[in-house]
Amino acid sequence: SAASLGHSVIPIVNKLQDIFSQLGSSSTIELPQVAVVGSQSSGKSSVLEALVGRDFLPRGSDICTRRPLVLQLLQTKRKADGNEEEYGEFLHLPGKRFYDFSEIRREIQAETDKEAGGNKGVSDKQIRLKIYSPNVLDITLVDLPGITKVPVGDQPSDIEARIRTMILSYIKHPSCLILAVTPANSDLANSDALQIAGNADPDGFRTIGVITKLDIMDRGTDARNFLLGKVIPLRLGYVGVVNRSQEDIMLNRSIKDALIAEEKFFRSRPVYNGLADRCGVPQLAKKLNQILVQHIKAVLPGLKSHISTSLVSVAKEHASYGAITESKACPLSFLLFSQKCGLLQDGQSALLLDILSKYS
Ligand code: GDP
Ligand code: MG
Repeated sequence: SAASLGHSVIPIVNKLQDIFSQLGSSSTIELPQVAVVGSQSSGKSSVLEALVGRDFLPRGSDICTRRPLVLQLLQTKRKADGNEEEYGEFLHLPGKRFYDFSEIRREIQAETDKEAGGNKGVSDKQIRLKIYSPNVLDITLVDLPGITKVPVGDQPSDIEARIRTMILSYIKHPSCLILAVTPANSDLANSDALQIAGNADPDGFRTIGVITKLDIMDRGTDARNFLLGKVIPLRLGYVGVVNRSQEDIMLNRSIKDALIAEEKFFRSRPVYNGLADRCGVPQLAKKLNQILVQHIKAVLPGLKSHISTSLVSVAKEHASYGAITESKACPLSFLLFSQKCGLLQDGQSALLLDILSKYS
């Protein structure tokens, strides 16, 4: 889907990774993890699902996400016949490929019940799921249980503290991007999401504010000032979204239709005019992409030296050892050299040079 995560950075990352694997080195671009935080039912799972562009997460008005779900997206090559093969595989069921995404949802629910019980219990034991698809970028997303205050069902009396500790254990890592999800039909200024994100990332270098449920705000109110950062300023800013309602879920409304409806929503609300870059799931995907490109730019200088080291070791195995040592100082001449020796395919060196000059 056009909104889904990663279209603009996929080409760069994948071409670089192709080249690295050809040089015999393991994957060297590690993209940051992205975690969603917020109170229960704020729309975290809905936001992640919309970003991935597929239906597969348990969502609902009750507590649905009761174990952390670590979702690793892995890009596969498009098949020659143009057919897309997308499937999921769980760590706890190795070798079993799920081609039906609603079956993935059922397995997440069953596996949640197995560990956390059937009565609203929460567990910090992860569920790990890999999704293989030609349409995604190699990135890890983490869906987390929401902050809840009043224990229900089998939840212990200190449920709030436990969930906060669990969330912090993910978002404290300096490389973790935080999507702080706040529903627009709550008191925005008292956002649990922004509060916990602020604990982990006080300077706001890696927190994006996401305001959900713009469609069900109190009549006469809107989130304009919030999206503009006038209520709680946030360095990376806010994006407002409209995801599927509980009724849409019951009616099996598709992500595609939901995106069309979201676009229509913003178009028909004059109050959001002029805020196009802060409205809608596609904008959120774009914002994430921009941050990932920044990240890639930041790690490229290190990759450059890594490339030259790899090239030296590959070239050593080839005959012309002498020619190499002369040009050791300059990675670019290694590239040209490697092209001459046929270490890289036609066009790959040029492409690598192009990427390196553009982004570093
Ligand atoms: P989570 O607990 O934070 O993961 O929240 P979910 O994604 O499970 O969503 C909770 C409920 O809110 C579900 O019934 C969703 O359909 C509904 N929901 C989520 N986002 C929106 C939205 O933007 N608008 C409306 N109307 N409902 C939403
Ligand atoms: Mg959830």
